[in-house]
Amino acid sequence: MSNLHKKRRQLVEYLIREGVLKSENVIKAFLKVPREEFVLPEYRNSAYEDHPLPIPKGQTISAPHMCAMMCELLAIEEGCNILEIGTGSGYHAALCAEITSPTDSPTSGYVISVEYFPELAEYAKNNLARAGYDDRVHVLVCDGSSGVPTFRKFDRILVTAAAPCIPSYLLELLNAPGRLVIPVGSTFYQVLTLVEKDREGNVRESKMGGCIFVPLLGKYGYRENTY
Ligand code: SAH
Repeated sequence: MSNLHKKRRQLVEYLIREGVLKSENVIKAFLKVPREEFVLPEYRNSAYEDHPLPIPKGQTISAPHMCAMMCELLAIEEGCNILEIGTGSGYHAALCAEITSPTDSPTSGYVISVEYFPELAEYAKNNLARAGYDDRVHVLVCDGSSGVPTFRKFDRILVTAAAPCIPSYLLELLNAPGRLVIPVGSTFYQVLTLVEKDREGNVRESKMGGCIFVPLLGKYGYRENTY
């Protein structure tokens, strides 16, 4: 087993011990997706440390425990169609793809991930291709604070940047039943918020604890260079 492979296993064991990773399908995805392909080359050896790392355009790849918490809250099932706002490195999108459409079974669900910076969308596309997820993750460039260029609805939605509030269009894009996870708050501190939509379309919001993400930019986010 290679050194990085061993470190990946150790990180997964740590996240299980800490009670963050719980579900078999999420654990399987964490064991499968190579985080080293999503970090900058100079951070390859730190890929399995449990903290965020810098990526281009002053953004970050989230800490593994945060990706794990969000995947667990989303309760992704095989075949779910997923929307991510904030592609960044593409790592979290690859995890979602591995859960909804596992590498070892016929492709079913898909992930659409949108990114504000074209340079990062390119970065993520390259990472996803190297890791083998470019067939299941579609990366688009747009301002995900105000809308996405699709008429499809999604079973699961994740926002991986700090939002001042829940963009109302996202609630409309969410299927019934469906789940949305989003960090809501200021640019310094947010509350990870779970929105559950039931079969009848009733929406329930739960606060799942504090977190810190980079700001959501764009029309209904925070203005670039003002935070
Ligand atoms: N999910 C990422 C990490 C996200 S960091 C990963 O796995 O690596 C937050 C990302 O959201 C950054 O890449 C940032 O550029 C992007 N972002 C910020 N505002 C956005 C917006 N309005 N629309 C789409 N993406 C946005």
